[in-house]
Amino acid sequence: MIDPFGRHITYLRVSVTDRCDLRCVYCMSEDMTFLPKAEVLSLEEMDRLCAAFIRLGTNKIRITGGEPLVRRDVMSLFRSLGSRIGAGLDELTTTTNGTQLARFAVDLRAAGVRRVNVSLDTLDAARFAAMTRWGKIEKTLDGIFAAKAAGLAVKINAVAMKGVNEHEFDSMIAWCGEHGFDLCLIETMPLGDIEGDRTDQYLPLSVVRSRIRKTWTLEETAYTTGGPARYFTVAQTGQRIGFITPMTHNFCESCNRVRLTCTGTLYMCLGQDDSADFRRVLRAGASDDELEAAIVAAIAHKPKGHDFIIDRARRQPSLARHMSVTGG
Ligand code: SAM
Ligand code: SF4
Repeated sequence: MIDPFGRHITYLRVSVTDRCDLRCVYCMSEDMTFLPKAEVLSLEEMDRLCAAFIRLGTNKIRITGGEPLVRRDVMSLFRSLGSRIGAGLDELTTTTNGTQLARFAVDLRAAGVRRVNVSLDTLDAARFAAMTRWGKIEKTLDGIFAAKAAGLAVKINAVAMKGVNEHEFDSMIAWCGEHGFDLCLIETMPLGDIEGDRTDQYLPLSVVRSRIRKTWTLEETAYTTGGPARYFTVAQTGQRIGFITPMTHNFCESCNRVRLTCTGTLYMCLGQDDSADFRRVLRAGASDDELEAAIVAAIAHKPKGHDFIIDRARRQPSLARHMSVTGG
């Protein structure tokens, strides 16, 4: 699949649920209304769509959410997709808040998953509780170490928030180095109403990077996932550190991905509204050929780039949908 700007679309991110057991302040409001079940694709429908994407050249799938591991029986989807590794699919991964990883790490590994991204914004228990509104850090840490013990490579994702966790990154780099985890820092993006002013939260990672450089040596690397992250190697630890800077750096030229929501809407860009409704296509009884044709037609509408502007997000988010809808 090649889009109108010559980009090869090989990476599909699938949000399997909009629900979550946490309420991170930058992601959701405390009082979220979740979708009724009938609107959400069944795991079988998701599997069928993913299979069509794989036939069309998708070689990497990431399962996300909401919190993917709170969806009932989600392991059946992992197992089914995992059986396609080596038969079109190269990599199956997930992004999770880690609360359920202690339960599922071994099963994920058995299904073919080799790497997981776990969101952990702070190592401080009280701050963790505040940032997630009610989370317990021990659960996420137990999950992270269960993943490591199961042989999964772990990358820690941390959203950088002004005045909240901004002075913790040196200790997080050291902690990740000690345990063999990569770290990825993320700028807040203006997605969805969160009951607060996003300009209060926004911290440019250019500032964070200069601060980090006072303690750590960041070596340039050619490593890329085709996404928005720019990676360096921390010379002192040997681990990678990535910076996802959608607000300060335009990363769209190399974008290789599209996003499927749990209702079967395919978003061609995280920061734009262009979308295609695959639930309608699936539930109208489309054949595999028709499904593939609909995917190819959707990719032909992938926009050139996003339109995030933080000043505009002061009162209104750039996009009304929450990150938990498209899964980040
Ligand atoms: N629940 C899982 C988790 O937290 O890893 C998966 C879904 S979550 C929406 C995916 C990623 O998006 C997480 O790393 C989270 O920190 C990030 N995220 C959520 N809202 C964001 C926002 N407004 N700006 C930047 N990153 C955000
Ligand atoms: Fe849940 Fe992940 Fe959003 Fe936090 S970032 S509220 S864990 S979906």
